[in-house]
Amino acid sequence: MIFFLQNGTNSTQVMEIQSILNKLGYYKGKIDGLYGQETEDAIKNFQRQNGLEVDGMVGPITYKALEKYILGFTFYRIEPGDTLYDIANRYNSTINLILSANPGLNPNNLVPGTVISVPFNYNIVTEDAKYTYNMMRLNIMGLLQRYQFLEVSTIGQSVLGKEIYLIKFGNGPRKLHVNASHHALEWINSVFIMKFIESMSRAFINGEDINGFDIKSIFTTHTFYIVPMVNPDGVDLVNEGLQLNNPYYNDLIRWNNTGKPFSEVWQANIRGVDLNHNYDAAWELSKKSEEAIGITGPGPTRYSGLFPFSEPETQALRNLTLNNDFYLAIAYHTQGEVIYWNFMDLATERDREIGEKLAKASGYYLDTAAGVASYAGFKDWFIQDFRKPGYTVETGKGKNPLPITQLPQIYEDNMKLLLTATTV
Ligand SMILES: [Zn+2]
Repeated sequence: MIFFLQNGTNSTQVMEIQSILNKLGYYKGKIDGLYGQETEDAIKNFQRQNGLEVDGMVGPITYKALEKYILGFTFYRIEPGDTLYDIANRYNSTINLILSANPGLNPNNLVPGTVISVPFNYNIVTEDAKYTYNMMRLNIMGLLQRYQFLEVSTIGQSVLGKEIYLIKFGNGPRKLHVNASHHALEWINSVFIMKFIESMSRAFINGEDINGFDIKSIFTTHTFYIVPMVNPDGVDLVNEGLQLNNPYYNDLIRWNNTGKPFSEVWQANIRGVDLNHNYDAAWELSKKSEEAIGITGPGPTRYSGLFPFSEPETQALRNLTLNNDFYLAIAYHTQGEVIYWNFMDLATERDREIGEKLAKASGYYLDTAAGVASYAGFKDWFIQDFRKPGYTVETGKGKNPLPITQLPQIYEDNMKLLLTATTV
């Protein structure tokens, strides 16, 4: 992507730049996407410190320099006499990070001339800006570079051709599935789940526990199959606004009949289908319910589509689920601090008990869904077709989209929930 940002620009790309400048200590202002004087001054300082032309603008060369820090690593050519300890100190890295990023490297026999990647010793998942597909993609690339044991693949493409990423953590036989952001306004859970992957990975290479759980042991007994952003087109519509080059530009303006901006109301995918009402589980009832509340076509929320699995995003999750024997699945939504566990009374006492454990771990309330929300969702289909425990977890409290300031609490509560899910 070619960047050209300067004083006066207002975009999520500016937010991305402000976030990394803040992490590096150049910028103390608001991470609001507005390229003002403070951002310009920070860029000038960054350029000065990095031997770049000092013009206060972000063109391709300055962006390339910033991107290295967003991705969180640099390349280094080993010199005679180097030790990993020296290299780690010189680049503010750690020996464990370097070893993790370079799996074949023998620390007792460093061969001069070998080029290695050296991760910087900070967490790379962006926690302080609106999370776009592009930001997530950069975070995935950065995580994969430093934690080479992660497996990243794609399970399909969105309507607009964005990848629906799958990230696997672990190599154990017990497979569990976690997904986030079926609903566009609920993107905060994509950040949470990326942060979860980062924390688990870091604990794994350092041999650390999290909340008393031995992460090395979880890695060998379990595999997390994580889809961090089911609806990337919708998330970008909410966070970046409607772009002129969107092929559904005119349709979207017509479909959003709420009089409110997309950033406040849009939950659906880019064709106006509510992905969490597009699964083949009492889909006809979902259809009837939506008609009863006056929804007859594509729109911001609750439209189930023309038929079950009509959308590429739900098809991708269907195929993933059919091809893997998940013992448990969790679909993340916002908000309410509540866990929904049943579907048409098909779930069992076992599933309720597991739900109780997850509720206890997170401090969330265990409940059953009612009305229009209770049909044709991912967890409904999972329970119906596989008769395994499936849950919708509604994180945080307030009005969607939840402010990013809720991330620490969501992280704390749901870290415990997901770790507990490995014990059931
Ligand atoms: Zn939702």
